[in-house]
Amino acid sequence: MASLSQLNPYHCDQCGAANVVAAPVLYQQGTHSYSTRFYSGTTQSFSAKAAAPPDPRGYGRPLLLWGIPICFTLFWGFVGLVGILDHSKSAMTLGNTVVTLLLIGSICICGMLLNFRRIARYNQQIYPKLQWNWEHTYFCRRCGRFRLISP
Ligand SMILES: [Zn+2]
Repeated sequence: MASLSQLNPYHCDQCGAANVVAAPVLYQQGTHSYSTRFYSGTTQSFSAKAAAPPDPRGYGRPLLLWGIPICFTLFWGFVGLVGILDHSKSAMTLGNTVVTLLLIGSICICGMLLNFRRIARYNQQIYPKLQWNWEHTYFCRRCGRFRLISP
């Protein structure tokens, strides 16, 4: 058995079955796209869902999460600032609020940039490894075990 496993690494090391399939193949076989006159989409088998490839992280969600408070604080901060500059005496009491709003806005911008940097680092360093692992993962059709086989 040992010599057989050395000759052919593509077998399940739990049950010994040679009926293993690569995760990308399993994913492809279990994913079907359809389109009718009104709808289009994809259906996935349970095993295809389990064998789904890793996703790179997107920028949309942090942009939305940070963007809303940034727009809010900067907009009202500048409105207050313009108010102070126009009628300096009556709007002087707004000074602290304007400073606070602009400060919060700046902190949110820093937070968003840090978040973007973390996402970029994940997509450049971690995601390729996960993708490589996925491409070299095999699924046993007999016992249902996923296993990473590196050549
Ligand atoms: Zn197996």
